[in-house]
Amino acid sequence: MSNDARFERQTIHRTYPSPRAHRIMIDKSTRLKIALQKSGRLTENSLDLLVRCGLKYTRGKDQLMCYGENMPLDVLFVRDDDIPDLVQQDVCDLGIVGLNVIEEKRLAFEARGVKPLFEQVMTLDYGRCRLSIAVPEGVEYRNVQSLRGKRIATTYPNILSRYLRENDVQAEIVTLSGAVEIAPRLGRADFICDLVSTGSTLAANHLWEAETILESQAAIIRTPVPVSPEKQEWIRRLTLRIDGVQQVKESKYIMLHAPRAKLAEIRQLLPGSEAPTIMPLEGSTDKVAVHAVCRENVFWETLESLKAAGASAILVLPVEKMLA
Ligand code: ATP
Ligand code: ZN
Repeated sequence: MSNDARFERQTIHRTYPSPRAHRIMIDKSTRLKIALQKSGRLTENSLDLLVRCGLKYTRGKDQLMCYGENMPLDVLFVRDDDIPDLVQQDVCDLGIVGLNVIEEKRLAFEARGVKPLFEQVMTLDYGRCRLSIAVPEGVEYRNVQSLRGKRIATTYPNILSRYLRENDVQAEIVTLSGAVEIAPRLGRADFICDLVSTGSTLAANHLWEAETILESQAAIIRTPVPVSPEKQEWIRRLTLRIDGVQQVKESKYIMLHAPRAKLAEIRQLLPGSEAPTIMPLEGSTDKVAVHAVCRENVFWETLESLKAAGASAILVLPVEKMLA
């Protein structure tokens, strides 16, 4: 697409904070815009992730935007359901949103014959939940066939419809915009299809989880429309940093002394480490120093096993940053 055509599309579709057209053109060519959920389950983790990637920002007066001070990256705060649309309309280059929303929007666009213009870059290690069919206590349910001819309330009609189709079940989908869990009590539906994480909301509403139809977690999406080389470079840097941040979370740096004879056994005990560094210890012929990055949690039990295998002077240090 030519630059002119792109600019035209951007100006036409821009419905969010609308600085003067003149500024849009400058911003669009050099600064990345990322959409985050304004207030909800993904907000804190998403902003924290960008800060861990090195972003320093100032908040706009209207609280709708944050402007990156040390990176050409601005954050736009919106409802999570609007995030794929903002990328679709090229108002934002990137967005962080749950796979549940991404999939629902993708199917909704496809149903309307519109090509989705957002693609998944990577999944993130938060926002985990599942989209499940839940059944009111006391209502008979054996398997997915029990849904035949029944009414199912949901805010995810497209994902549910695909699931029913795949299972060759015809049922009525009651699309609601919220408060799905009370639909059976209000007599609006026989079953529900909603997001679950701990299951406590279901239990509080006398429902039990019968089928999981989608596993979800937060993910980054981007526009498939080519962006300027400057922006492309920052998308590359940002995704590498996010990768680093995610790896670091569980990683620990372990240092210990090990008898040479026990080295093989001790290496086996180091959780998720690839190639430890083995160094001689001054004045000792039978012991070496072992340093390793462990990419999984290091528990007290691990340290006890290492000690039992002959390791001594064991130190476990947090890893602050990592770049593969
Ligand atoms: P908004 O006002 O932005 O539309 P919302 O009410 O749709 O907010 P939240 O409840 O904050 O959204 O959930 C945002 C996302 O968090 C969900 O789309 C989902 O990806 C994820 N999530 C994780 N656990 C849960 C859960 N138990 N219930 C709902 N969403 C969850
Ligand atoms: Zn929402």
